[in-house]
Amino acid sequence: MALRTLLALVCLALPVLAQAKDRERCPYCKEDPALMAAAGVLSHAPSAIGDKGGEELVAKLPVSRWLFVETAHLRWASALGDSAIDQRDRERVEAELARLRAVLPDVPTKPRKLDPWLRLHVQAMKGEEFYARFQALLGVKDADFPAERRLDAPYMGAGRFLGEKDKFEVVLHVSRENHRRFTESFSGVAVNDSFRWHFPGLHKLLVSVPVEDADLKDDRGLWPHVAHNLSHAFLCAYKHFSYDPPVWIDEGLAQALEKEFDPQSRTTEGEEGSLRDTKAPADFAGAATKLVNVGKAPRLAELMAAKDYSELGTDGSVAAWSITRFLLDAHGERYARFLAGLKGQLDAKGNPSGEDLPGLQRKLLRELWDWSPLDLDEAWRAWVKSGGHAHARK
Ligand SMILES: [Zn+2]
Ligand SMILES: [Zn+2]
Repeated sequence: MALRTLLALVCLALPVLAQAKDRERCPYCKEDPALMAAAGVLSHAPSAIGDKGGEELVAKLPVSRWLFVETAHLRWASALGDSAIDQRDRERVEAELARLRAVLPDVPTKPRKLDPWLRLHVQAMKGEEFYARFQALLGVKDADFPAERRLDAPYMGAGRFLGEKDKFEVVLHVSRENHRRFTESFSGVAVNDSFRWHFPGLHKLLVSVPVEDADLKDDRGLWPHVAHNLSHAFLCAYKHFSYDPPVWIDEGLAQALEKEFDPQSRTTEGEEGSLRDTKAPADFAGAATKLVNVGKAPRLAELMAAKDYSELGTDGSVAAWSITRFLLDAHGERYARFLAGLKGQLDAKGNPSGEDLPGLQRKLLRELWDWSPLDLDEAWRAWVKSGGHAHARK
């Protein structure tokens, strides 16, 4: 047994060396420092993905090739092949390629498909754009997050990446089996669906996605799902992931941002991870309006009491999304302060504490709006009835 293990290790080491030596050059930035800088790319080398690094990923989860990219706030590892371009999606893809072409002149016009390197560069670009969107909704910038906690300033977490010490990571697996082996390698559990993990010692958050099912195969479906997962990772990271944020807020925001990319996209949270759901209502705006109009909308007090995704349920998810949309669109600045208050609670000794989050929400609603939960219910329902979703961002 010991000998077989040793042999296996020797055999696994070979592809790593070959990969490092023969690593193909990116045809778009050509790994030219000026082009890379223009595109916001720091490196295409296998990077510090997960707790064992990108080279371990290449060795342990063989596919034809793994590609890597690191930008200012994110690292990506992708085993994906080509992505088809849906004709209905052509305009959006062309707009993204035009943004990329402005910095990388070799990006083609009207390609029939996206090759793996082009997909990677588009993801790298959109990842940073999404990070900027998230910082904007929080009303924060990089300079607000010192590398170490400062005791002479308001609490902002423990590091430069929204409060975490290291960058956010996304691993895109070509098969569910590889995703299961990867998630088991650090969490101890082989997970079926998309999975988020905080490495406590490393202070970073990772998203692992099995890109196997038909609805995730091309980037049209994949991106909103990745954005949903990154929204959870970013909110958890904000002022350091020391306790879980309230479920309705965490899920409401993830749904809201996912739907900014595709109003019909819907990721649901299962026991183990998140998956794209094709059975849930496609039209959340219609579903929310109906719940309000027939008087069946869950009350905020009920949403605040939900301890996990199953307790939120379908109506609760729709309501959480709709209330979040209302707060983002009609009360954006106060919503940012609401999140800031929820994510940075300290106990009497100055340590982060997730104690009595429903009580904290009531306190912040009162301080910021002079609202009780019932007052918010009323304001939200009035907004929905006046056609709020028709004017909203999505
Ligand atoms: Zn490149
Ligand atoms: Zn979610």
